[in-house]
Amino acid sequence: MTIVVVFDIGGVLVPEGNRMEQLQDHIASSAGEFDRGAFADAYWAIRDEYDLGASDSAFWTPVLERAGLPTSGEIVSLAAQKDAELNATIAREPHAMLQDLAAAKVPLAILSNAPRRMAQQVRDGGWSDVFTHLVFSSEHGCMKPDQRIYDLVVEGFSDVESPTFHFFDDREKNIAGANSAGWHGHLWQSTQHARTELTSLGVLPAKHP
Ligand SMILES: [Mg+2]
Repeated sequence: MTIVVVFDIGGVLVPEGNRMEQLQDHIASSAGEFDRGAFADAYWAIRDEYDLGASDSAFWTPVLERAGLPTSGEIVSLAAQKDAELNATIAREPHAMLQDLAAAKVPLAILSNAPRRMAQQVRDGGWSDVFTHLVFSSEHGCMKPDQRIYDLVVEGFSDVESPTFHFFDDREKNIAGANSAGWHGHLWQSTQHARTELTSLGVLPAKHP
């Protein structure tokens, strides 16, 4: 049996933190102040479509419009680029954990509901080199917790003998989806918690005093 460890990105490898505020500050520095509440509401209201592959302009035009911002190509591209960048910036602790997993030769994968530009940003970021297989919703037109997307990850490991999948995600429904797919879901709490889980599975070596 080979243990494959699969990670979500948002809220896991990339903490939510003050991401929305940073994004809004960046847009305001170019386009001036705007209705930040309306911006956030619109952003979350149609985010699933973006994660399913909608274009930058299909997502950002209505979000900018609702916030009272100009919807020029320039602002759309500025917002899309910053959003992708913030969503693809891994935190230090999970980064160190991934390096430890890679050093232990653990097969690793990403399963993320994410728009195309963010997917590209993650692929281009050096930290994603440790993953054998990266599955992004926008590139397949289906998203967690749809069973098809878990199967896409499994297909990526068809050359691995009797793989067992352990998955870390910050959303209950995605964990439930993983468990339905026959995986072992772990609701994300912190990097330290994940390290403890992975050590008890025997994929990370126990720390010697
Ligand atoms: Mg998440």
